[in-house]
Amino acid sequence: MSDRQGVAILGSTGSIGTTALKVLARHRDRFRVAALTAFSNADLLKEQAAAFKPTFVGLVEQNGQWTAEIGHRTSDIGHRTSDIGDRTVIGRDCLIEAATRPDVDIVLNAVVGAAGLDATLAALEAGKRVALANKETLVMAGHLVRGAIERGGGEIVPVDSEHSAILQCIAGRSNDEVRRVVLTASGGPFRDWTRERLERATVEEALRHPTWRMGKKITVDSATLANKALEVIEAHYLFDLDFTRIDIVVHPQSVVHSFVEFVDGSVLAQMGVPSMELPVLYALTHPRRISDTASVTFDPVALSPLTFERVRHDDFPALLLGIEAGRAGGAAPAVFNAANEQAVEIFLRGKMTFGEIPRAIAAALDTLDDLPAHSRDALQAADAAARAFVREKFGC
Ligand code: NAD
Ligand code: MG
Repeated sequence: MSDRQGVAILGSTGSIGTTALKVLARHRDRFRVAALTAFSNADLLKEQAAAFKPTFVGLVEQNGQWTAEIGHRTSDIGHRTSDIGDRTVIGRDCLIEAATRPDVDIVLNAVVGAAGLDATLAALEAGKRVALANKETLVMAGHLVRGAIERGGGEIVPVDSEHSAILQCIAGRSNDEVRRVVLTASGGPFRDWTRERLERATVEEALRHPTWRMGKKITVDSATLANKALEVIEAHYLFDLDFTRIDIVVHPQSVVHSFVEFVDGSVLAQMGVPSMELPVLYALTHPRRISDTASVTFDPVALSPLTFERVRHDDFPALLLGIEAGRAGGAAPAVFNAANEQAVEIFLRGKMTFGEIPRAIAAALDTLDDLPAHSRDALQAADAAARAFVREKFGC
């Protein structure tokens, strides 16, 4: 069927990427998987390509076996083969090509971290819809993303469950009808831990999220609450809201995905069992909804009680550090994001304590407080400087 929309999935082997393929497998009548990219998991990527038959497959990391199979050690020569895809590209450029191909209408950016920025910008410049899971893109370069939307006519529809909830609650109403939004936060695995215990939390403990199964980086971000800081900045750009109009409440059950309070005092919430399948599907179909046979019937009694708590800011300082960086603007959000990415990577390698993560971010923000932010290259330089700073001062 030629009127099916073409979807490119960047980061198809990850948590969001594999969830998206599950959703797309149920909706082959409307969507066609046009392109798939992954970082290094060639075996899974190959399996996915065999199942969905995209016209384009990209692998970021050089891979000897693939290179031999494809016959060219290059990122710019295509190859026709039935089980890998009509065109296969190895190397970083595969992301941009996947994001801008003519047979792609929607780009699901499910890459983790700042590595997703160029593909988001290119897709928006090319007029595509970007279903955005890769929140780091907006945090690092929100104003550049806005510029790309204006120039290219593309649009961003959030995949993040909180932002999908807000979009669904706002449902086309104008900005001046919204008083504020309240993002919910599960509180992560350490919600009720003492500060002393938090300081020495292990990698294994940080990766044991109570309500969501996700990639390692976002799981650690959920434990430090840096994820919520990224989401506040994401909401600021997506919904054009001043930081004073974005609040956070801890909600351990992750059933209320966020609230929107309107100027007349009415409050709408979007709810559902914690699953990324709905926000992924909604990002593809927005503003429409389509029937999804796999969605479970909502049972408020089974999900009760639903509880809400204040954030313990003193014990989870990464949240306010990120919000302050968002308010400061310029390169500060990019520095916050990159310092956090680098610190989490070092933590995951067992070379930094959990308590050091926010300290590394704070030190990077203190030191790199006035870097230029006017262009993509300037922001990449700020990103690199923050990573180098954290490696030097805190890495081993
Ligand atoms: P993940 O680690 O499970 O998957 C990441 C994917 O990106 C993989 O396919 C990997 O191959 C690819 N990738 C990694 N580094 C790359 C690079 N340098 N260049 C190109 N590709 C690269 O992560 P995830 O949990 O799926 O999260 C992806 C994004 O979605 C993150 O920005 C995260 O914050 C966001 N997100 C995730 C969830 C969730 O439930 N997992 C929810 C909301 C938002
Ligand atoms: Mg979220």
